[in-house]
Order: sequence, then structure tokens, then C-alpha cells
Amino acid sequence: MATVSEFAALSELSTSAAPLSREAAYHLLQSDDAALPSLLAAAQSARDKFKPGVITHSRKVFIPLTNLCRDYCGYCTFRRDPGDPGAHTMTPDEVMEVVRAGERMGCTEALFSLGDKPELLFPDMRDTLRHLGYKSTLHYLEAMCEKVLRESSLLPHPNPGLMSTEWLKRLSSVSPSMGLMLETTSDRLLAKNAAHENAPDKIPAKRLRVSEDAGHQKIPFTTGILIGIGETLEERVDTLIAIRDLHLKYGHIQEVIVQNFRAKSKTPMANWPEPDRGDMLRTLAVARLLMPTMNIQAPPNLSDPHYADLLDGGINDWGGVSPLTPDFINPEKPWPHLEQLRHKTAAKGFALKQRLPVYPEFAQQASAHSELLAHKLGTAANADGYARRAA
Ligand code: SF4
Repeated sequence: MATVSEFAALSELSTSAAPLSREAAYHLLQSDDAALPSLLAAAQSARDKFKPGVITHSRKVFIPLTNLCRDYCGYCTFRRDPGDPGAHTMTPDEVMEVVRAGERMGCTEALFSLGDKPELLFPDMRDTLRHLGYKSTLHYLEAMCEKVLRESSLLPHPNPGLMSTEWLKRLSSVSPSMGLMLETTSDRLLAKNAAHENAPDKIPAKRLRVSEDAGHQKIPFTTGILIGIGETLEERVDTLIAIRDLHLKYGHIQEVIVQNFRAKSKTPMANWPEPDRGDMLRTLAVARLLMPTMNIQAPPNLSDPHYADLLDGGINDWGGVSPLTPDFINPEKPWPHLEQLRHKTAAKGFALKQRLPVYPEFAQQASAHSELLAHKLGTAANADGYARRAA
């Protein structure tokens, strides 16, 4: 339970760039619903001081390059084994067909989401890659990012899972930003019957290493937390602080996603309790107070129909929203229509702006990675760094 003096301190803290301490964050995340209005007011003050007036989104197409994955996260319905219904690796023609359709609908981001290193587990994937002419999924992803960059007006944003230092470098020359959800720093979730029991690529130290490598290389990087998968509230704060500290050290975290777990049928966590509205709003507010000057995002489709409330938690971004493709990770949760998103955002007093996959303040950092990127970003961004082709 937070104390009165903690809330009194919040009003001062919310307008200073000095972040919340770990102990204060633990307390605030444990506060009850009666304390929620004060917490939200502090988070909103911080957002309105450092990210005033504008909520951003990225108009995207979602490209599930392959849904084969060597991990078995307890909450995932995206992944498949070879031979499962719906198992699929897209061909280059299929990728470009989606990209062309996205161009026609004013999209500016090609989000590549895919399973982690399926060829290490499945001979079928090795055959598929050999047939396509690539040594690994990452070689294929690199080629598709470059193809999209050279042949379309969309900018790629890959989310391929763990990557080596060399692969971060290679992908950073064909994509202005990339992402890896940290999800949690809790090793407890690797234990028997926990969310990441069968997910070797979800070892927190490995994901922190990739995030740190991206910092060394000054790659605009998206990461975030997945709440409600078995972590304690303290572990949730620790994860947010790990992200904050990486950014303080390297200045490369362009956005922090706070994603709420949604239970999906036919998964090991089908009956697991979902975070409620208060839990999500408290987490958003604590994230904002821990990282007052950073970009904080929450996906609207995972809180539909009350997603506009997420603005009360201090976010300044809705993430990628597609007018064309479903959210293949959460196919049962359609994205809101962009006009509805604009209307609900305006009703809370904000202008909705279309950003590129890389945030305006990180575009220069992205352009330094290749001449091709510098050229494409120069074409895609307006003078303020937002999408020139905003729909
Ligand atoms: S969440 Fe990602 S890593 Fe985990 S099983 Fe699904 S696709 Fe694989």
C-alpha cells in the first residue's frame, strides 16, 4: 500500500525528469484501487510534460514470415510445428503481395514477426530454407527486409527473437529499428509448469544480452514487458528498471511496450487469470514514472473495448495498428479501426499522429547504419520525423 507522503511526492516527481526509485515503484504497484486516481494523475502529468499533446501509432502490415518456432511458450497460439494445421513459411512473393497491398492502404511499416530459429529443431524448416536459397531463417529475414526496403515505400521492423552481435549489425543495415520483448527478468518463469518452461530463447540473461548489444551498436530498439504471466509485482518493476537502465547507459530504447497477458484456449495457460484493468493501469503509470521521458506503448486491441482508458496510465503510443492484416499473435483480438482510434484519442484531448517504425528522435541514429536506410528514411519522413505519407 502506498503512503500519503509517497503520493504527495509523486506530484513533484511527475514533472521532473528524475525517475521513481525501485522501492517507491514496488509500493505503488501494490497500491489499491482507491489510490489509483492519484497514481494516474501523476503519470499523466509526467506524460503531458515530456510527451505533450500527441499520441503516435504506426500504420503497418504484419508479416508472419514463419510461424514455426523452436520454443513453446505457455501462452502462445502463434507458433506451429511442421505439419500442424496453419504451419507456414511465407514465400518472397507472398511477402511482397502483402507489402504492395499495405502500400495501397497508406501503411509505412512492414512488421516481420516470426518464430525463433525453427531450423535448429525442425529438418522440414532446413529443407524449406534450402529450397528458398538461404542458410538460416535470419539470412532469409535479412533478404526480405532488404527487398522491402529497396522495392517498396514501407520500412521493415523485424522481431526475430535472439540474435548474435553480428546479426544485429546485419539487420540494422536493412531495417531502421528492430525489436525483442524482454517480457520478464524472472528466471522463475523457466521452472517446471511456468510460462517459459519450454522456451530456451526466453532466458532473461540472453534477452538482456541482445538488448545490451543493440545498445552498443546504437540500434533504435523496441522492447517491453508482458504482464500477468506468473511474475511477482516486484519482478515486474525489476524488469522495467532493467529496461530503463539499459536506456540510461546506451540511449537506444526507442519505446517500451507494456503488454497484458490474454488467455488463449488450447494453450497450457488457457485458464490462467488475466491482469485486470486496475493492474494494467497501475503498471502503465509506474512505467511512466520510472521512465518519464521515454516512449511508452500499450496495444489497444488487447484492452478492447475500453482501450482509451490506457491513455489515463500515461502512454504516448498505440504501437503498430494495421488496416489490412490481423494481429497474428493475438488473432482473436482485432485492431481497432484507425478512424475509431483517432476519434477515441481525440476525445481524451490528444492528436493521433502516424509515425514510422522508427520514432522521429531515433531516425538519425537509424540512418547512420547504412546509406540505403538514410536514403529511404529521408524519403519516408516529413520534416518532423513522422510519416510523410500519413493516411
Ligand atoms: S511467443 Fe514467440 S518464442 Fe514463444 S512460442 Fe510463441 S513464437 Fe515462439
